[in-house]
Amino acid sequence: MKLYISPSNQPSNKYIVGNTNEKAEMEAVAAKVKAILDKDFDCEAIMATLTMGINSNERPQEAKNKGCQYYIAIHSNAAGVSPSTASGAVAFYHPDSAESKKIGAAAVRELNEVCQIPPNRASQAVSGMTQFNGSGYGEVRSPMQKGVIPVIIEVNFHDNPATAQWIIDNKDAIAGAIVKAVVGTLGISKKEGAPEAPQPPAPDKQAEPSTWAAEAWAWAKAAGITDGTNPQIQCTREQVVTMIYRALIGGKG
Ligand SMILES: [Zn+2]
Repeated sequence: MKLYISPSNQPSNKYIVGNTNEKAEMEAVAAKVKAILDKDFDCEAIMATLTMGINSNERPQEAKNKGCQYYIAIHSNAAGVSPSTASGAVAFYHPDSAESKKIGAAAVRELNEVCQIPPNRASQAVSGMTQFNGSGYGEVRSPMQKGVIPVIIEVNFHDNPATAQWIIDNKDAIAGAIVKAVVGTLGISKKEGAPEAPQPPAPDKQAEPSTWAAEAWAWAKAAGITDGTNPQIQCTREQVVTMIYRALIGGKG
């Protein structure tokens, strides 16, 4: 699967804090998105030629020429009053593609999940084909016309000082949230060898300790350090420290 990553090309959209702009910030986020996908996931991430604009014959055509199936546009948002109090992620999808809508909804959910500032948008995932008297946003309309499924992700607002600062300070978390939304929606699997979240063993393996641990397990049970249940299940820090404590005081006490 090939994903086309298109960060904002709008240097004139200044951030209200931090002496930076939408193009600089979103190119940095997009580079992180590509790095995570390249390292950990079974797909190809193609970065847009950053000097190219978003007209139909520019990035959307490049996405098609390079064989990409999805066009992920990454932007930050402006409410148009400065400073604004608008907050939260927004996504624009193409109404003819259920996948486009799903990626958009997932991106909003994941981005809002990693942001401490509560979102206050009435509509979070909306059609990107109703604007400009129905011709829609170029990065929604043009890729779809070429058979590349689009979504525009607005990570948060750059004219609200709080969310602008949050974007500047949290680009790793933002990139992680975008990746999670995209790979989760499209079912892109992790590369072999990529770190997996630790998995508990199958239920039938959980009742007995492993051979190498059997002697220690029997000792710990006899000494009252553990009740002997769930030998292969992971431990919380409070469980670990309680067992150390019991070992040192000589049993449950
Ligand atoms: Zn933008």
